[in-house]
Parts: sequence; C-alpha cells; structure tokens
Amino acid sequence: MKEISFRTKIFIGENSLDRLMKITSEKVFIVTDPFIEQSGIMKEVTNRLENKDNDYFIFSDIVPDPPIETVAAGVKAIQEFGPGIMIAIGGGSAIDAAKAMKDFSIKLSSQQQAMKFIAIPTTSGTGTEVTSFSVITDEVNQVKHPLVADSLLPDEAILDTTLVKSVPASVTADTGMDVLTHAIEAYVSTNANDFSDAFAEKAVQLIFDYLPRCYKDGNDLEAREKVHHASCLAGMAFNMVGLGVNHSIAHVCGAQFHIPHGRMNALLLTTVIEYNAEIQGFFTGGQSFAAKKYAQLAKIVGFPATNSRIGVNSLIQHINQLKKELHLPVNLRACGITKEKLLASIGKISEAALIDGCTPTNPRKPTTKDIESIVEKIL
Ligand code: NAD
Repeated sequence: MKEISFRTKIFIGENSLDRLMKITSEKVFIVTDPFIEQSGIMKEVTNRLENKDNDYFIFSDIVPDPPIETVAAGVKAIQEFGPGIMIAIGGGSAIDAAKAMKDFSIKLSSQQQAMKFIAIPTTSGTGTEVTSFSVITDEVNQVKHPLVADSLLPDEAILDTTLVKSVPASVTADTGMDVLTHAIEAYVSTNANDFSDAFAEKAVQLIFDYLPRCYKDGNDLEAREKVHHASCLAGMAFNMVGLGVNHSIAHVCGAQFHIPHGRMNALLLTTVIEYNAEIQGFFTGGQSFAAKKYAQLAKIVGFPATNSRIGVNSLIQHINQLKKELHLPVNLRACGITKEKLLASIGKISEAALIDGCTPTNPRKPTTKDIESIVEKIL
C-alpha cells in the first residue's frame, strides 16, 4: 500500500504574491540570500507585510549550497525573534536552509509550537517548495546531506513568475536541467506510479518546449511561467517516489568540485540514462524496466521511439541537443576539473554516492565500480 498526499497549498498566477497580504499581526522570519535582499524582490514581500501590524526580521546570510553553520546561525536568530510564520524566498539554497532552520528550531524548542512555512521560489529548478527534502552541505567533509522528513514540507508555495524574470541565462540553464533530471529520475524510480508519471511527463514536455525560450529571453513571461510550473510538477513527482543515482553522484561531486547543482546533474544525465537502460547491442526485445520507461517518455514528448532502443537513444540525443542550445559544459574538464583531481577523490565520491538517500530508488542497483565508471565517463 502506498499513500499519496499533497500537503502544500500552491498559489499560482498573476498577483499570487498577494497571498502574503493575508498575514496579519504576526512575527515573520524571512530567510533569503543577499541578492534577493538587495534586489527589488524583497520589497515585493515586505510591502505586502507592512501596515498589517506585522513585525518582520530578515535573515539574508544564505550562500549557494548552504552549510550547516548557516543553518545553526539561523536557528539562533529564530530562537531570539520567536516568529509565528517563516517565509523563505530565493533559490533552492535559501528555501532548503530555511526548512532545516525551522525543523531544528522546533525540535530544540520546549514548546514544539507550529510555525507556518511559506516558500517562494525565485529560481525554477529544485521544486523544494513542495518537497520534504532539504539539502545541507558539510563543508569540512565536502558532502551534501539530503535531509528527508514530512516536517520539512512547506505549508504554502507561491509561484509568482515575475520573480524569476531576473534569473541570469546561465542559472536558467542550470536550474532548468535540474527540473529535467528530477522528472526523468522520478519517471524511472523503482517507486514510480501512474500519479508520479503524470507529473513527470508534463514537466519533461514543458522543459523541452519552453526552457530554450527562457534561456534566450528571460523576459518571455509565458515561457518563464511554464518552466516555473515544470519545476514544481517535477518536485511533486520526485517527492512522491524519490530520485536516483544521478542525484546521488551530483550531491557528492557538486560539493567536492563546487559545481552548481543543476549543472552537475546535466553533466551526468545522459551517462546515467545509458547506465540505467543497459541497452545491449542491436537486440530490441526484452529490454530493462528503465529502458522501456525512457522510451515511453520519449514517445510521449514526441521523439522517435518505435522500440526501446530507439526511444532511449532519441531521448539522449534530444537532451544533448538541449544542453547544446543552453551552452552547458560537455564534461568535467570543461568545468576546470583535471583527471588528477578526479582520480584523487573518485573513491570517496563513489562510496558517498552509494549510501546517498537517492540511491535506493534508482532502477539499477549500482556498485561503487559502476559509480566510478559513470564519473570517469563524464571527465
Ligand atoms: P541557488 O539557490 O543556490 O541560487 C543560485 C544563484 O541564483 C544565487 O546566486 C542566487 O542569488 C541567484 N538567484 C536566485 N533567484 C534569483 C533571481 N530571481 N534573479 C537573479 N538571481 C537569482 O540555486 P538553486 O539551483 O535554486 O538551488 C540549489 C540548491 O538546492 C542546492 O543546494 C541543491 O542541492 C538544492 N536542491 C534541493 C532540492 C530539494 O528538494 N530540497 C532539490 C534540488 C536541489
């Protein structure tokens, strides 16, 4: 038996940020990064809180891939301020850090009081506004830890397209590929079901149709909205059924080599698809579960897929074409990682990726050797 539930209320469309005007007489703790605080985006939030007898505090020390120390500083600030509501506004880094801060501060408090949590993503990538995940970085050991708990699920998510207009093209490309990786990994997860497939299929279709438009013109609001929705849909898919070894490796390599999360996922995606599909020679029958699912996905989004082999290959070709359009690096070398640097840490990477929380739902059970071979292929 499997339970499917969606706890987060999602607000979309024009003026969705006005949802914040419902907040009255509250102490509001806002978590964000320095860019969002200094840009006009923060004013969009505070303008809606002022004149409603609210008191707010802005914690804006978030850096990409937030470290444990930042979470600890946020917990201390929460304990001092004593908020009734938290608003996390920013990319995945700000929202994930806020989720962890909220969870730890409630656990440390003797009152265990409920604190409402509103997530407002300003990138279209992680889907964290609807997931029970929070990825926190251990900078000393250079590893990212995905925390997973129902208590990390936001109560509300506000998807306001105007907030993502300012995302630079390179971040649009990285985060968009994160969406595609979420959807594809959820689609071939060992837990995948008709419900998660529906979300994943739509997300993949929207990414292929609209991500290149967002990349070329950040002010294309129709495309921005579609990709913002795709990010949330993919988040709903993987929150239901988990991810796979693409994310496991990305968590370790991203922290080790300081490569943005979405870009790291993009570097791995087609190699992981090849690994999971296990397409052998020219034989087209009796293919793996993953090969069949990749081919089904290719067919649904309109790529050639007369059999599993053709479907897997056309999905890979279209992903490579998309990466080219987004000017994404083709390999680790193009990100400045040398062979020596990779070999020095490959053992640690494969061991950490094998025990990452995303590995158990991968369609093919990897060994450390398999993971090493995937990583060597993307050098
Ligand atoms: P990010 O939050 O690190 O932001 C990337 C950059 O974009 C930052 O410099 C930020 O200031 C800037 N930015 C954000 N919004 C902007 C805007 N509107 N205009 C201009 N610049 C803007 O990047 P991300 O990809 O959104 O999040 C990555 C983090 O999320 C990683 O730590 C990753 O591991 C984690 N993650 C979490 C989940 C989850 O379910 N919790 C899923 C995937 C990834």
